[in-house]
Amino acid sequence: MLETVDVGRQSVDVLGPTVGGDVISGLRALAAPLRGARVLHLNATPYGGGVAELLRSEVPLLRDLGLEADWKVITGDRDFFSVTKTLHNALQGAERTLTEHEKEVYLTYSTRNARLLEGEYDLIVAHDPQPLAIPQFYGRGDVRWLWRCHIDTSEPNPSLWDFLRPYLDDYDAAVFTLGSFVPPGFPVERVEIIPPAIDPESPKNFALDPGTAGRVLRWIGVETERPLITQVSRFDPWKDQPGVIEAYRLIKEEVPSLQLALVGSMALDDPEGWEVYRRIKEAARRDPDIRIFTNLTGAGNIEVNAFQRLSDVVIQKSIREGFGLVVSETLWKGTPVVAGEAGGIPLQMQDGAGGYLVRTIEECARMALRLLRDPDEGEALAARGRELVRRRFLITRLLSDELSLYASLLG
Ligand code: UDP
Repeated sequence: MLETVDVGRQSVDVLGPTVGGDVISGLRALAAPLRGARVLHLNATPYGGGVAELLRSEVPLLRDLGLEADWKVITGDRDFFSVTKTLHNALQGAERTLTEHEKEVYLTYSTRNARLLEGEYDLIVAHDPQPLAIPQFYGRGDVRWLWRCHIDTSEPNPSLWDFLRPYLDDYDAAVFTLGSFVPPGFPVERVEIIPPAIDPESPKNFALDPGTAGRVLRWIGVETERPLITQVSRFDPWKDQPGVIEAYRLIKEEVPSLQLALVGSMALDDPEGWEVYRRIKEAARRDPDIRIFTNLTGAGNIEVNAFQRLSDVVIQKSIREGFGLVVSETLWKGTPVVAGEAGGIPLQMQDGAGGYLVRTIEECARMALRLLRDPDEGEALAARGRELVRRRFLITRLLSDELSLYASLLG
């Protein structure tokens, strides 16, 4: 049996004060025809990374809206997750492809996971490449399959794409974050574009008064009276933490009291994370003002909330990015962002809202320094960013888009 992630139920009404009663009644109306629909979300990890973050918020709300929603994670050993990480990287354009042995590992686990997938469902949503091949080996009952791709697959490695493409044949629809992410020759006819969103009521995003946020950061050793820049992201080559360290060093020449926090998480499905973590530790050695925090040493949701709230500037120097939930999370807290112009990030910082988009380390340093020197400008940019998030990137909008799609697939 695949592991079910125990997430309970959360009333959508708690979102009412933030999004308005009309939005909540609109959601209930959209969900009414789906009452009792059995919907399963299937992904590779219960924690670490944006997909787990989304499902943790979404599944309990879907339950409150009357769906029988479940969340399960697939099984795999270290070999399998190394293969799927290679798949992930190669779908985002990395040079690497799979050996025959690695393909065999992927398909062996896909078959095993299909066999272990119990329960009766009307719709199964498979997230990202890890569970992608399962429908082909499942072959039971009258299930609709939806592939939810969270990464930038606009230029997938061609030989890897040739390997994966046939396994998409069993899908009824696919969802991407941006239109430009749909790869050439994509075989699923029905494609929807639905960007992710954040949950303003999760402990990561709910209001935290500055006094409490300050206590949280001081307790873990941050000096809150000194300037602070932070990046929050998985330890992953595309997130470019080494570039953040270089940018920090440039800024520190001008602002000697500057501190840098790199808050990173390890995910169950990401063996590469440890290697990246070791390299970053090495790069940060001998500078006590660079602090590295992980979910394994207690930097959880409240700590991330406090960092995103109290940092002077949050950096997200991604080179490739699916959406980058961290950007909306930060803007929601009124903190300006300096971020790589990659994937879904520009969508969240349209028309200059929220901060600055950058392409190089030097530009990253320059724009962060500018915001450190002019907090009023940062505050004004962040306020516009927060407004954009309120309009477009809160979870109620995501639920509404997804419910409409589910209804049309199950109707
Ligand atoms: N995250 C976290 N702790 C960390 C690093 C990341 O809780 O140390 C969370 C972060 O707040 C966000 C998610 O992991 O909710 C990352 O999602 P994003 O879309 O930014 O990137 P992904 O990891 O999916 O590529």
